[in-house]
Amino acid sequence: MSYTYDDKNIFAMILRGDIPNTTVKETEHTLAFRDINPQAPVHILLIPKGKYVTADDFAANASAEEIVDFWRCYGEIAAEEGLAADGPGHRIISNAGEHGLQEVPHFHVHILGGQGLGPILTPRG
Ligand code: AMP
Repeated sequence: MSYTYDDKNIFAMILRGDIPNTTVKETEHTLAFRDINPQAPVHILLIPKGKYVTADDFAANASAEEIVDFWRCYGEIAAEEGLAADGPGHRIISNAGEHGLQEVPHFHVHILGGQGLGPILTPRG
């Protein structure tokens, strides 16, 4: 698989500090911040600091250290935001590529919660 990373994407600008963000958590390899257009009471975007375009790019090409750091951050955020699945729970989504309707070409996971979220997809007619 071959991916071309666009340094001009908006999350690259956030990582460079060119535009502001509302940071939830930051580690050596990972940043989490509030979505600018929240679709639920809690809507956080979790991104690696490395230049990965999609979830499958990250899975194939990130280091083990980056991958562990990313998913540990996810778990910590879920707990810290009161969304753990032994409590109310939450949903994670990662849109990838054309069929996934990915808007920003820097891998990110949406963490959504704070209310019942309904079905993930509308049944196909
Ligand atoms: P996706 O369609 O999965 O690529 O989602 C991109 C997400 O990025 C959307 O939910 C946007 O609301 C969000 N977004 C775009 N620009 C910003 C920004 N400057 N700060 C925070 N979230 C943003």
